[in-house]
Amino acid sequence: MKQSELFGKTLKQAPADASAISHQYLVRGGFIDQLMSGVYSFLPLGWRVHRKIENIIREEINDIGGQEILLPSLSPKNLWEETGRWTTIDPPLFKLKDRHDKEVALGPTHEEVITDLVRKRVQSYKELPFALYQIQNKFRNELRSTGGLLRVREFIMKDLYSFHSSESDLEKYFEKVIKAYEKIFNRCGIAPIITKASGGTIGGSTTYEFQAPTKVGEDVVYFDRKAGKAFNKELIDEIPESERSNYEQIPAVEVGQVFSLGITYSEKMGATFVDSNGSEKPIVMGCYGIGLGRLMGTIVEAFHDEQGIVWPDEVAPFRVHLLVLGGEDNVRNEANKIYENLVKKNVEVLYDDRDESVGVKLSDADLIGIPERWVVSKKSLEELSVEVKKRSVKEPTLMKISSI
Ligand code: ATP
Ligand code: MG
Repeated sequence: MKQSELFGKTLKQAPADASAISHQYLVRGGFIDQLMSGVYSFLPLGWRVHRKIENIIREEINDIGGQEILLPSLSPKNLWEETGRWTTIDPPLFKLKDRHDKEVALGPTHEEVITDLVRKRVQSYKELPFALYQIQNKFRNELRSTGGLLRVREFIMKDLYSFHSSESDLEKYFEKVIKAYEKIFNRCGIAPIITKASGGTIGGSTTYEFQAPTKVGEDVVYFDRKAGKAFNKELIDEIPESERSNYEQIPAVEVGQVFSLGITYSEKMGATFVDSNGSEKPIVMGCYGIGLGRLMGTIVEAFHDEQGIVWPDEVAPFRVHLLVLGGEDNVRNEANKIYENLVKKNVEVLYDDRDESVGVKLSDADLIGIPERWVVSKKSLEELSVEVKKRSVKEPTLMKISSI
């Protein structure tokens, strides 16, 4: 992609209200654009990162047998009344009325919708277990939106739901999901603390949050490093008084959560199956969420410096940022050739072919944070080379053009 044609220029100024560094850099770098409080558009650079994250998640969830579906965003009031969550869910639902005065909700999560789907279609233990997931927009009527992508009112979530004939089968799958989550987050460069938590209005007995330590985190994790145990602050009272001093308090962002729901939803909604003895039982369920935009913001919180973002390889918008410095014809021609070559070889490359000063090009490259910067200039061509610098290190090295 030629940067001269890229939609979404970098900005000098961050929005006045942007206190989180990820918010500042993602807006300034031309990754996202705020439409209104807690509602963002993804520009080409930002959407590329989002898609990379999406694909990592898709690969790992497919790997544990998840089948991808797409559920609607609109759902009828009566479904939410079956579980009582029409009025109790927190944050409260975004509600609207259609032209016939029928009330509907914009989905913040999909336990009701998926339980309805499954109760209509599953009859026998022979059809269990299975797991369904989607990567879809969620709407949350948050009191305050903060930190750019960290807390928003509309975002894309991966929500996975699993259905089992027994608690023990659910437990086995639950462990698999935790492993898959660890892989997903590791591939994104982060290592969240797996934190025992309470279920909030989603419910369920066992639930863990994946809490990524960052200064701007709104959650606090009580972490016993030695024992490898962590609790959310809501569960602090479960810790014996004598052990409290073992726990550090770490500010963190919740990037994912896994809930062992049991029969909470299936019992209320009559989602049953007939077991091998012919008796009818509620389906045992689990649900598992990851917010993609929040994860993207968290990655930036973890990987940046004074100049801008330092994307981990797997989620970077491009692999190489090729810069041509200076306007001489031979320099331009050489850079053009390298660009064409990289494109031919399917290397993801952003080519800064703009008529901008050296200073602007270098500082934009640092802000955008592509893992490798390749500079073609009069100086580098004297050495028949490209100057290559990893975003994460200070010093460049020369690479012979003939060896590319
Ligand atoms: P929080 O406690 O931060 O409000 P939550 O516990 O209500 O989040 P879940 O219902 O567990 O969120 O949703 C699953 C995942 O969706 C979260 O782990 C997080 O990654 C993401 N998520 C939830 N709310 C938001 C939000 N307002 N903005 C961005 N991502 C969110
Ligand atoms: Mg949660």
